[in-house]
Amino acid sequence: MNDAPPPYPGSDNKAEYPPQHQGQYMPYQQGGDSDTTVILNQPVTIIQTFGECCIRLNCQFCHADVITSTEYEPGTLTWLACFLIFLFFPLGCCLIPFCIDGTKDVVHRCPNCGVEVGRFKRM
Ligand SMILES: [Zn+2]
Repeated sequence: MNDAPPPYPGSDNKAEYPPQHQGQYMPYQQGGDSDTTVILNQPVTIIQTFGECCIRLNCQFCHADVITSTEYEPGTLTWLACFLIFLFFPLGCCLIPFCIDGTKDVVHRCPNCGVEVGRFKRM
């Protein structure tokens, strides 16, 4: 006689959950929305580099689009060359650098308003 109730085999739920690897399925992003748009947040300041030759620029004083006129003025290199020549050569030769444009700074002027807009320094 078996009138004892059948024992519930799973009275305590020891259901061991296996560590579910929740696969992160990356859906294929088909086309289009690639974030390759680089926003250049740089200021629009154009740095003019002055050289020996005249350049084209927008004058910051009269706001005209001009080509600079250049002229030579004695600069640091001129005086340095003058000093070195003064040390080693007879008097008078030290004035030679002032006759050579290659030792002078180049001054860029706006031909429209005549203001110095830049300078190319040798040193
Ligand atoms: Zn100007």
